[in-house]
Amino acid sequence: MMLAFLLARAGIDVLVLEKHADFLRDFRGDTIHPSTLELMYELGLLEEFLKRPHQEVKELRAQVGRESFTMADFSHLPTHCKFLAFMPQWDFLNFLVEQGRRYPGFHLETKAEATDLIEENGIVVGVRVTTPQGQSEVRANLVVGADGRHSVIRARAGLPVVNLGAPMDVMWMRLSRRPSDAGQTFGYVDRGRLMVLLNREDYWQAAFVIPKGTADEIRQRGLSAFREEIAKLVPFLRDRVEELRDWKDISLLTVAVDRLTQWSRPGLLCIGDAAHAMSPIGGVGINLAIQDAVAAANILGPVLVQGTPSQHDLDAVQKRRMFSTRATQRLQLIVQNNVIRRVLTSTKPLTLPWFFRLFQRVPYLRRIPASIVGVGFRPEHIRLRAQNSKT
Ligand SMILES: Cc1cc2nc3c(=O)[nH]c(=O)nc-3n(C[C@H](O)[C@H](O)[C@H](O)COP(=O)(O)OP(=O)(O)OC[C@H]3O[C@@H](n4cnc5c(N)ncnc54)[C@H](O)[C@@H]3O)c2cc1C
Repeated sequence: MMLAFLLARAGIDVLVLEKHADFLRDFRGDTIHPSTLELMYELGLLEEFLKRPHQEVKELRAQVGRESFTMADFSHLPTHCKFLAFMPQWDFLNFLVEQGRRYPGFHLETKAEATDLIEENGIVVGVRVTTPQGQSEVRANLVVGADGRHSVIRARAGLPVVNLGAPMDVMWMRLSRRPSDAGQTFGYVDRGRLMVLLNREDYWQAAFVIPKGTADEIRQRGLSAFREEIAKLVPFLRDRVEELRDWKDISLLTVAVDRLTQWSRPGLLCIGDAAHAMSPIGGVGINLAIQDAVAAANILGPVLVQGTPSQHDLDAVQKRRMFSTRATQRLQLIVQNNVIRRVLTSTKPLTLPWFFRLFQRVPYLRRIPASIVGVGFRPEHIRLRAQNSKT
């Protein structure tokens, strides 16, 4: 959506295909990173954007066993917004759609699922689409696969994938939120269990992390055992775990970490999770996807105004973004393998590891994770110029 908005803003005709009817789905991260807010500033949209309901989080905190501590402090970042904004992602996407619609070239078709590529002489020239009205074809100078970690586009393109592995999956559910509850998003960690609560005002979006492939085992133990696990880890939720009446109230999100070694073929480019599925660790996947979109717009926008990008142009996007992708995934794997795996297999009560104690003694250290999460490696800036909008 970000890429479509930036290209339409530059006077290029763009069609976004979205297989669902809207963006109102729970399975979305809610983090809008300081780097994304900086892009909003560069686009002149920050003030309007921040009028939407959101929470501003200046620090990320977690609780290990009985001890709580600050992991990241965003207040020193070199960005206009020194906080992480939490906003339901559907609000963010709807905002981008509204902005996109100010430009004549912006088109969005919902309930339109891309099912295959159209190729001519080895060049991708469009996609086949299934809509409630039937099958159709869309032809384009460039097809961008931004269809997430189960990307159909990258599979159809046969692009080579390196699977980096993830030791966990996530049980994703809602629990009501009371005025007396803590206001901030928070992580809870104790023996064998890890849960993150996202504040969505009248309810908590809860992510309960489980060892990969154990969902069936957990379901077999029964719902009341699962409710008890939650209540033990986060005692203030005990009075509402009964809201989980059926396993249908709990979705299983499978976590994948992988990346393509080649992001493009003539006529086709993958970005975001389609090019590199990100772990939820650090909540940075949205940031990377947006940064890819900005890099793609900066590099390909001037070419698309004239016609079709060459393979060399498409390679330039991968070249620009590969370092951030590798570096971020490397860090995610370190945390997955050294922290998450250990937490999920521990049987003893957990205490705060020494390096997090160091964070308490030397607050300066909290700026490092803040910079990695909030801005990331090699932040992008808006370089593609705008054409006149309709409004
Ligand atoms: C459990 C979990 C929690 C996470 N939490 C966070 C977080 O808090 N913060 C964060 O930054 N990152 C988080 N991430 C990572 C983040 O979700 C992804 O990195 C990010 O969403 C990638 O954005 P994207 O636009 O590439 O793909 P997506 O956000 O997956 O968007 C892909 C879109 O394409 C549509 N689509 C899919 N297939 C088709 C098709 N064939 N035709 C048409 N449309 C299609 C989908 O409906 C969807 O709207 C989390 C990941 C997981 C697994």
